[in-house]
Amino acid sequence: MNGKVYGVSLGPGDPDLVTLKAMKVLARADRIYYPGTITKSGEVNSFALEILHTHGAPQEKLKSVLIAMSMPREEVDKVYDNTFESIMHDLENGLCVAVVCIGDAGFYSTFGHLHERMENASVDVEMIAGVPAFIAAGASAHVPLALRSDKVLVLPDLENVSELDKYLDLYETVVVMKLSMIGKGLYAYLEKNEKDFVYAEYLGTPREFVSRSLEDLRSRRIPYFSLIILFNENQSPVNLCPEK
Ligand code: SAH
Repeated sequence: MNGKVYGVSLGPGDPDLVTLKAMKVLARADRIYYPGTITKSGEVNSFALEILHTHGAPQEKLKSVLIAMSMPREEVDKVYDNTFESIMHDLENGLCVAVVCIGDAGFYSTFGHLHERMENASVDVEMIAGVPAFIAAGASAHVPLALRSDKVLVLPDLENVSELDKYLDLYETVVVMKLSMIGKGLYAYLEKNEKDFVYAEYLGTPREFVSRSLEDLRSRRIPYFSLIILFNENQSPVNLCPEK
């Protein structure tokens, strides 16, 4: 296992959604890199670190990979370059390295950026699958995301809510992540179009908030850790569980 890098999925926030396989790799890893964000006030937030702490990961194994939302692309790349160099150094020392990610490590994750670099350097890599946030959102709302021949589209982000019309024409279920980018436009769109939806933020954490009611979104500040699942009218409402 030494000299190898594992992309380890931690699930969206609930420590119980870390797989047994991920737990086994974490227990054997010599070094664990975890992602975090630096807020405008300089505070460091990391769901991944919270999950690692819950599972008792020793502090001396941990190394952060910190990105600020305000960082330009080149600076973010620099962070990945430095992390990659640090991982290469660990490998030269024969260490077993884990890079943990929120949700699934292969789905819009920090690990994906490092993976590109590791592939170019022919590093031995293994990925441990996990629960992506949008799957956890459906479960938290008790709503099946797809049935029979329903098609599902996942959008990493959206510049303009009006684009949703064309996507909802083609897909029964449309997931939008990194929702904070749309901000207020989301409420206006939902009010006008009366779509069935599941809105979810901070899934699996004490701050979790999941709603299918438009009223709840009227004056809500949409954080980065949020997503929405929209259903078009072809997805019969009888498929959806009634609101509580
Ligand atoms: N690898 C992750 C995706 C990371 S991209 C996965 O598999 O889900 C970051 C986006 O994921 C956030 O902007 C948000 O849309 C979503 N996300 C991740 N964790 C979340 C959580 N706990 N609650 C709500 N959304 C979450």
